[in-house]
Amino acid sequence: RLALAGLRKDYDGRRVVDDVSLEVEPGELVCLLGPSGCGKSTTLRIAAGVERQDAGTVALDGRVVSDGVRHAPPEARSIGLMFQDFALFPHLTVAQNVAFGLPRARAAEAETYLRRVGLGGYGDKFPHMLSGGEQQRVALARALAPRPRVMLMDEPFSGLDQRLRDEIRDDTLSVLKEEGTGVLLVTHEPEEAMRMADRIALMRGGRIVQVGAPYHIYNHPADLEAAAFFSDVN
Ligand code: ATP
Ligand code: MG
Repeated sequence: RLALAGLRKDYDGRRVVDDVSLEVEPGELVCLLGPSGCGKSTTLRIAAGVERQDAGTVALDGRVVSDGVRHAPPEARSIGLMFQDFALFPHLTVAQNVAFGLPRARAAEAETYLRRVGLGGYGDKFPHMLSGGEQQRVALARALAPRPRVMLMDEPFSGLDQRLRDEIRDDTLSVLKEEGTGVLLVTHEPEEAMRMADRIALMRGGRIVQVGAPYHIYNHPADLEAAAFFSDVN
């Protein structure tokens, strides 16, 4: 269970993340939804530990991993990361990419995770021999292999064509559901959030303005701007 509490971040004297609190339960998919520049990626980077907050705490399964004093690095957080630039190591095979960072004793499991994302038998190929969509699946296998408690995803499916995007997204999310992994997924597309999320957190100007089940937010938007944001979804 991921718990963000009272997160705050300023850049150059401007508040970009403003008192953000949000929880993600095991197996739950929470979409962080909001317009460009509202602070979604910054919030995710703070949760991952690649950015430090100015105030607030990040806790995993009841253990504080970051506050004003402690700051566990990303690799010590049992958090999986999938960002837009999912770069694979070009000089390592697909299987070596997936096994990267795994304890040696578990390296053989790379093939298991490749099969899960539909790439059984691809282990000995190199990234440049794969299509963009296949590379993205490898990145997913790599993110899954350490069995993180929580997966943080920042628009990881953009840059793919619509069909591939739907396919990879649905596959990915069902694998995570099966594993009981909580997911915090950043998107700026209301349709995507409405379709997939267990809960949506609506963000604007660094603040979370509403959290709830998709149908609830759709039917009872907190304010006019929230309503306008969903007005194109049907
Ligand atoms: P998008 O949907 O376009 O990805 P976002 O909601 O993810 O937007 P953030 O990337 O969190 O937005 O950025 C929020 C604000 O903070 C933006 O105005 C951005 O320019 C600013 N910002 C982000 N990172 C930095 C940084 N390292 N230094 C200075 N300003 C930054
Ligand atoms: Mg962003």
